[in-house]
Amino acid sequence: MKLIRRSELGWPATTAGHANPRSGLVVHYDGSNQGLAGQAHSACLSYWRATRNFHINTNGWVDIGYSFAACPHGYVFEGRGLNRIQAAQPGGNSTYYSVSLMSGPTETPTAVQIDAVRQLRGYLMDRGVAGTVRGHRDFIATSCPGDRAYAMVKDGTFTKAPGADAAGGMEEDMVGLSQGDSGERVKFLQELLRAGGHDLGPAGIDGDYGPATARAVLAARKAEGSRQDFGDRITGAAAKQILSQFVKAHR
Ligand SMILES: [Zn+2]
Ligand SMILES: [Zn+2]
Repeated sequence: MKLIRRSELGWPATTAGHANPRSGLVVHYDGSNQGLAGQAHSACLSYWRATRNFHINTNGWVDIGYSFAACPHGYVFEGRGLNRIQAAQPGGNSTYYSVSLMSGPTETPTAVQIDAVRQLRGYLMDRGVAGTVRGHRDFIATSCPGDRAYAMVKDGTFTKAPGADAAGGMEEDMVGLSQGDSGERVKFLQELLRAGGHDLGPAGIDGDYGPATARAVLAARKAEGSRQDFGDRITGAAAKQILSQFVKAHR
C-alpha cells in the first residue's frame, strides 16, 4: 500500500479522541466532481489539504473528518489515521474506519483507486478490523458515496483481494492497444503504468497513446526482464508485465 502519512503533509498529530474501530470500513466520496484522475498526483495533495482546511475552518471540526482517503492514482492518504474517532459517519464514527474516494458523483473510481481501498482494507484487517465494507448511506440518509461507488460496495468490488484477482479483466482491457490509440482504455493503461512507477512525461494520464506512453510501456517490460524492444503496442505478454509492475509497486 502506498500510504501518504499526515506528517508528510506537514500536519501535526491529530487531536481527535481515541477509539478502537473494529467493525469495518465505510466508503465516502466528495459531493462534487474533482477531476483528479486527469490531473497530476500533486493535485491530490492540494485537494486533501483543502479538505482538511474546510473541515477545520468551515465545519469547525478538530481535524479532517476521515480516517483515510484513496486517490485516483492509487495512493492511500492518512487523515485522522488509526485509532481515532472520526467526523464521517454518525452512528459509526468510533466503531468503523472511514475512507473517502477523492472523486465525485459522476466520476467512476479508477482501477488503481479501487485497489487502494482493497489494500487499505487488508491493512486494517491485519490490525484486527473486520473485513466488512459499507457505504455512508448505510448509516444515515445521504447520497454519499454516490450511486457508482455504492454499487461497488454492494457488489463486493471493494472486498476482493488487492491486485491479482482483477488481473484477467485488467489484462483484457489493455491487450490490443497500440500507439496512436486514444480513450478510456489508454487512460487505464496509463494509470497502471504510473502506479507501477513509470514516468509518462508532462502529458501524464491524457488518454493518448503517444511516444511517452510507449517509452513507459517499454520501461515496464524491461523491468520485468523482457528482451522485446517495443512499447508501441500491447501484446498479451506486455500486458502481463505491466500488471506485474503494478502489483509489485503496491505490495
Ligand atoms: Zn460520506
Ligand atoms: Zn493522486
